[in-house]
Amino acid sequence: MGNLLALISLLLLELRAAPLALGSFSAASCWTLALASLPQLSLEWVLTCQVTAVTIRSLIWPASSRGVWRDALADIVPPALGAWAVARLGWLQAAPLLLLLSLPLPLLLSQLLAPQSGVVASRMALKWEHLSLVALAPAAGLLGQRDPLLMLLVWPALLSLLRAASDGEELQQRRSQHLALRQQRKRVDLREQINEETEIRQERQQRLLDARADTFALLETLAAKPLSQAQALTEVLLALRQRIPQGEWHFLPSGEFAGEVAIGMRLRQVWSEGTPWILTTAQSTHAAWRLAHSGVFYVQGPFVLNHELQFTLGVFFFYLGVWFERIRSQEGLLLALQRLQALLQGARQLTALVSPREILELLVERAGQWTGRPCAIRSGPLQVGEPLGQAFPFPGGEFYLEASGMDPTEVEALRLWLVLGAGALERCQTQAGLHQNSKLAAIGQLAAGVAHELNTPLGAISVALGLARRNLASNPEKAIGRLELASKSVDQVRVIVAKLLNYSRSSDGERRRTSLGEVVHDALQLVGQSFQLEAVTLEAPENSQEVWVQANAGEIQQVLINLLGNARLAVSGRAGALVRVGLGPGQVTVEDNGPGVDEEDVQRIFEPFFTTRDIGQGVGLGLSISREIMTNHQGELNYRRSALGGACFEMRLPEVHE
Ligand code: ADP
Repeated sequence: MGNLLALISLLLLELRAAPLALGSFSAASCWTLALASLPQLSLEWVLTCQVTAVTIRSLIWPASSRGVWRDALADIVPPALGAWAVARLGWLQAAPLLLLLSLPLPLLLSQLLAPQSGVVASRMALKWEHLSLVALAPAAGLLGQRDPLLMLLVWPALLSLLRAASDGEELQQRRSQHLALRQQRKRVDLREQINEETEIRQERQQRLLDARADTFALLETLAAKPLSQAQALTEVLLALRQRIPQGEWHFLPSGEFAGEVAIGMRLRQVWSEGTPWILTTAQSTHAAWRLAHSGVFYVQGPFVLNHELQFTLGVFFFYLGVWFERIRSQEGLLLALQRLQALLQGARQLTALVSPREILELLVERAGQWTGRPCAIRSGPLQVGEPLGQAFPFPGGEFYLEASGMDPTEVEALRLWLVLGAGALERCQTQAGLHQNSKLAAIGQLAAGVAHELNTPLGAISVALGLARRNLASNPEKAIGRLELASKSVDQVRVIVAKLLNYSRSSDGERRRTSLGEVVHDALQLVGQSFQLEAVTLEAPENSQEVWVQANAGEIQQVLINLLGNARLAVSGRAGALVRVGLGPGQVTVEDNGPGVDEEDVQRIFEPFFTTRDIGQGVGLGLSISREIMTNHQGELNYRRSALGGACFEMRLPEVHE
């Protein structure tokens, strides 16, 4: 019962003293002393009560808890010592120690435990109150020794009296002073805290600035070098690997997002949306940033991508992207120019080609070189299993390119190239038509001669057959001999007709190793009769040396027949009309003793449609086509005056040796 009462009275005192900013010693401590002197209460119990009271005070007034805990220590130790002294020695013997404990010791403890807290000063201000309380404690103790209950009743009353006496203006002032000091102390604490946080923030800021400066320095050094995209990428990867060496850095060009399915998906998302992807834990990181229109940077490794680093890398990749776009557009322009140049060069080559097959080959080959992809000209639809690609319209079918995704300049260049190709093909076909026409015209001229030439063997056949029929019954052996003669003549006819057909057929343009002598011989055979009919002497080459050339026999024959036709016309009707054909190493000459070409026409005879003949007699294409054929054979066709007095046309062809 006594214990409980003691505890309650202590708590009441605490509640009363704490809001007045009185130290525990002032109220509760003295009460502790008084209680300690009671024989009914054990010293341990009294101290336990006091610790409880101080704890409760700290909980009730937590605003100043930091200070209160330190104060509380200062408050518990002296009363504990005091209570121990009173309990052991009695009031009188303990009095000097109590005086020492009541003021100097708490002050010293406060000073040691909580310097600059202001508590010391406030305690000094309260010293008189302490002293009076300490003085009252023995009185209470003595009273309690008589009757503990009486003491419990009287003590609070005494305390109230004392408080009422000192609760004047001065105490109020001291109290507010004490509170102000506490407030100040709190502010100091707060400022310290703020300073600490500011410092941390500043440090972070500095680190961020450093990182950013480093980033910009890197960008600057990169931008200062005239790098290609590929070189720039290598340098950037190197720099990143140096700065974050724990990470595995990769650059994935647009559309090539291999790797694990989940990561591939993330990368595709980064590519399509342009927002970075960062997955960072305490141990590892997966992250990706998009680099403008070029691709995606991906890093993975055992490191933490903190906020600063995330931010810095974000800024870095943004600026890197801008710079890359510039390189890309420069490179794109350069590439477009190169393509255009190649295109012009290709176009020049196209105009030199006359065979459609060669044109198509060049078209496919060049398109393949420029685009770096396989391509083909096709007429049918795509077969199952063929890779999907891109098709462009092309005469007679389409131009098909494997793989899509070409950039617009590439597509335009290719389109232009195909238009040029189609034009070349068309020209080739028209030219082929012209060649064929001029050839057919020549056949018209040859016809009379050929008919005459056929007459001889046909006549021979007729005679031989007649004789054979007559001899059939009487002399079968003789008849067989006649029939053999007829068959020989039939062979002769066949040879002549074959040559004519051969000549009239349009050329396939194919060049083979050809005997020039044979071509000359065939041509002379074809025209021979027409010369005879017009009483023109045709001198064949004297020597029969072998001259080999890489040529299309039909085309060379066409040239020869043209030249022979012109020569025949030039001398026809003249006395002693003569046309001489010469054969030498890589050359054939056709000369005549006609009037030759007028001085003013020499420059023009090879022009298309130049003719001095009457309307309907000539179209003026013979020589121009002949020269074109020779040029296509890497040969020449030239005119000069002949020693015979008329014209001399010289055909030259590069010889081929075994
Ligand atoms: P065409 O025979 O249809 O006129 P060509 O191109 O074969 O066309 O000849 C052009 C012109 O060259 C002829 O009209 C003629 O004036 C001249 N020419 C060609 N060959 C001879 C030649 N052997 N002698 C004189 N003039 C010639």
